[in-house]
Formats: sequence, C-alpha cells, structure tokens
Amino acid sequence: MKEFDYIIIGGGCAGLSLAYELEINQKLRDKTLAIIEPRTEYKKDKTWSFWKVTNHNFDDCVKKTWKNFTVNIPKKTNHLECGSYPYQSVDSGLFYEKINNRLKENKNISFFKDISEINSKNSFIFNSVPSIKKNHLNLWQHFCGVEIETQNDFFDDEIFNLMDFDCDQRENVHFFYTLPYSKTKALVETTWLSKMNDDSQKDYDHQIKDYIENHLNLKNYKITYKEEGAIPLFYPIYQETKNKINIGTAGGMTRLSTGYTFLNIQEHSKYICRNIENISKTKRFEISKKYQFLDDIFLRVLNKNPKMMPNIFFKMFKSSPKTVIKFLSNKSNFLEDLSIILKMPKWIFVKALFR
Ligand SMILES: Cc1cc2nc3c(=O)[nH]c(=O)nc-3n(C[C@H](O)[C@H](O)[C@H](O)COP(=O)(O)OP(=O)(O)OC[C@H]3O[C@@H](n4cnc5c(N)ncnc54)[C@H](O)[C@@H]3O)c2cc1C
Repeated sequence: MKEFDYIIIGGGCAGLSLAYELEINQKLRDKTLAIIEPRTEYKKDKTWSFWKVTNHNFDDCVKKTWKNFTVNIPKKTNHLECGSYPYQSVDSGLFYEKINNRLKENKNISFFKDISEINSKNSFIFNSVPSIKKNHLNLWQHFCGVEIETQNDFFDDEIFNLMDFDCDQRENVHFFYTLPYSKTKALVETTWLSKMNDDSQKDYDHQIKDYIENHLNLKNYKITYKEEGAIPLFYPIYQETKNKINIGTAGGMTRLSTGYTFLNIQEHSKYICRNIENISKTKRFEISKKYQFLDDIFLRVLNKNPKMMPNIFFKMFKSSPKTVIKFLSNKSNFLEDLSIILKMPKWIFVKALFR
C-alpha cells in the first residue's frame, strides 16, 4: 500500500486550510500528502463568519463585509461600529472550489475516501475528526439558518444583527442572527446555547418562519439555502501522540464562549506550516490559557443563569466594540480583559469561580 509523508484526516475547513497553506508555501514540492475525506462531492454547506482581526488566505471567498452591527434585547438596541475589525462571511462553496482547484495541480497530493486505503504507519498525521463522548451535561451551540431572497429591496445591507434576544428563551439562551448580504438577500439564523437534551427546541423551521414573518415583518420571500449544525462548547478528547496533531474543532480551535473557529483554524494552519520541518517536536498550538479560563467561568455562569445572559451579552457590548471584538477574537491585552470583566455582574462570576 502507498505511503505518504503527511496525512490529513478530514478534508473540511481545517484539513483543506492546512493543505492549502502548505501548498502555497511550497512545503509539498518534495513531500507527499494524502487527504482522507469520505464526502463524494463538495458543495456549499456552511457560512463561516468572523471579525477579521488577522489576515487570511480567503478574501476572494468573502461574500460580504460589514462595518456596523447591532445587538439587542427586548426594547433596547445597541448600534455598534466595527470598522477596525470588519465582520466577514466566507462562502464555503467558494472556499472548497478555490482550494481543490489548487491542490489538484500538485501530483504529490492525493485524495482517498478511507484511511484503510493507504499505509499510515510512518506518516505524520493531522486529524480533524473529533472524538466526542456523549454527555448530557455538555453545552452546545445549536443553530439553523436559511438564506432568503425578497423581490423588493427590504434589508439594510450596511449593518448586520449579531444577536437579537427579543425571542422565546425556553429556559435556555436563544437569539437570532441576521446577515444581510444585499438589499434582497439575507441569512437568518436561530441559535441556541443549550445542552439540547430536549429535542422540542429543534422546531427550527417554525422559529425561523415566525421570526421572519412576525418580527422582521417580511411576508414575501423565498428560501434559497439552509444550513444546520452544532458546535461543541467543550473540548473534544485529545490524546497526545508522537506522530499526530489534531486540527480544527478536534484540535481545540473553537473559542468556547462564542463558537468562533474559522480564524483560529487559519492561524493554526500558518503555525503548522512555519514549523512543518520540525513538526513532531513543535509545541502544541492552543487558544491561550487565559481565554480557556475566562470562557470556562463564562460558560458556568451561562449554564446556571440562562435568564441573565441576554442582559450580560448586551452589557458586554456596551464597552468599546473594538475591545469586545479583540477579546472575543483572542487578541485582547490585560487592560482590555479587565474592562470587559468589570462590565460583568461580579457576584455571579465570583460564585462561578467556586462552582
Ligand atoms: C453549519 C456550521 C456553521 C458554522 N459557522 C461558523 C462561523 O460562522 N464562524 C466560525 O468561526 N465557525 C463556524 N462554525 C464552526 C467551525 O468553523 C466549523 O465547524 C468548521 O467547519 C470546523 O472545521 P473542521 O475542519 O474542524 O471540521 P469540518 O469542516 O466539519 O471538517 C471535518 C471533515 O472530516 C470529514 N470526516 C468525517 N468523518 C471522517 C472520517 N471518519 N474520516 C475522514 N474524514 C472524515 C468530514 O466529511 C469533514 O469534511 C460553523 C460550524 C457549522 C457546523
């Protein structure tokens, strides 16, 4: 059976980002790479959005960039500006096409459906398939979004809505998220921060229809695309092995308080690429311990006090938006962290420190 220098398990966001980074930096000129991916065809299945706090390779896959956003709770709206770190949405269809077109030009890169088709004994493995043990106490970010199209101009495409908490919370944390791509097109998503032990929360079609028709007051529209998913707000099992590194969600690249993963995956890919010649001896890349600690406390508060969360999120965005964005994107300094922490209701957070 054929052997390869490197194997990437999972040709999704992290696997393809890494392969692309290695390819454009000429790290695969004299090395071979096998990508193991079971899907039979690549098509748009996700929209990756984030504040652009660092450069990435996919500006040409960006559907839309915004410099203004809102966060709201019932009867109150906070209008915020994010010109320093604009918010971007990457179309996964364009991302897959761009990367696959580039990778297929290199004869050293091969695709397989299953790892049993190759000999993996002597390869260095980058694994993006998470190992998740079912646990009913774990929190997830569950969501379902639809792209809709209207006949007449309806949306203000200069401003997106990050969180609209003016909706049924059902003892959990629930908000809607609206990304207007143009005056006639938008993504509308229902998002739950929940253990989701109760499947009745998954009446997503009904929630979205009700929100569009009775909250946005839009009656005439058609649905052109739908995406659904769940992001674990806990780290998957990570077994340290000499010749293997986990990447993507499996590699702990999700910021647990937000679910944002895309830009961390890009930074991880660049880190691996810089160190590829000495990868088995390179220190593991992690979201800094400071954010791991703060997110742990934040999620404990969320778990115990779901009813308070709309206000807590709303208040957090009362700080300078630039500071909040840096904090949520792992780029804040000590003083910026402090300014966010001071906006939080102290006694609840102190209590969460001691469980
Ligand atoms: C619908 C959705 C929307 C999201 N939106 C955002 C967002 O807006 N912003 C953000 O920052 N993050 C977002 N995320 C979180 C995160 O960025 C994505 O989940 C991202 O795709 C994670 O990349 P990944 O490579 O770890 O996993 P994936 O992209 O899921 O890739 C894993 C790959 O492994 C393959 N695979 C599965 N089983 C096997 C196997 N046994 N062997 C080999 N391969 C296998 C799968 O087919 C898949 O291609 C979103 C997640 C989802 C699900």
